[in-house]
Amino acid sequence: MKKRIKELSKMINVEISEETLDNLSKYLKMLVEKNKVMNLTAIRDEEGIVEKHFIDSLLLTKVINNDEEHIIDLGTGAGFPGLVLAIYYPEKNFLLVDSVKKKVAFLDEVIQELNLKNVKTSTLRAEELIKNNREKFDLALCRGVANLRIILEYLIPFIKIGGRFLPQKLNLNELEESENALKLLSSEVKKIYKFNLPLSNDERIILEIIKNKKTNNIYPRMVGVPSKKPL
Ligand code: SAH
Repeated sequence: MKKRIKELSKMINVEISEETLDNLSKYLKMLVEKNKVMNLTAIRDEEGIVEKHFIDSLLLTKVINNDEEHIIDLGTGAGFPGLVLAIYYPEKNFLLVDSVKKKVAFLDEVIQELNLKNVKTSTLRAEELIKNNREKFDLALCRGVANLRIILEYLIPFIKIGGRFLPQKLNLNELEESENALKLLSSEVKKIYKFNLPLSNDERIILEIIKNKKTNNIYPRMVGVPSKKPL
């Protein structure tokens, strides 16, 4: 599969080093094995995982800047997009967060096996993790976790003033209903990036959201409130 990862990343014009390719294929192998005994991804075939998880995560490299060093991925699940990117960018620091302990246990296994020194994990929920991590990150990532207005409340408080949030979305349906959340969190959508996956040609969207001011300490609200009563 190493060759296939190389081919598909070439199709989206992303250069990958030999070391990164080795690490990605080891990660893929561990994921496919673990997925037999625990539900990490509904996509079971290797080629599907490469395109819909690995390549989809690597699309972010077209938007991430050199000077973005401290990166948080909330609700990373089996490591998408955060662990793929941590492998791609050994010089950047990543915090991968998921409240499901067995998913994080899998991430820890991969991190140990690949000897990654730039990744930390947490099983706290966003609403609790914020306590020691307010305004600490240059960049926030989040794929497939919740509606945009909910993930805005989760992630914007973690970002430094002037920092960016790059959520991945399948369409723009949630944009209009997120206006209030953007306003309350002093953030704005700067740009909308559209890409296509290399095999299925499915569209993928990355929103570029900038945080303009310090976030009021009342956000995120208590555990469960952001999802039950979205801004
Ligand atoms: N980002 C991955 C997984 C998406 S599934 C991917 O795209 O494949 C969503 C994940 O978000 C779940 O594993 C769930 O446990 C986690 N999650 C949802 N709300 C969360 C919260 N408030 N804090 C931490 N993790 C959360």
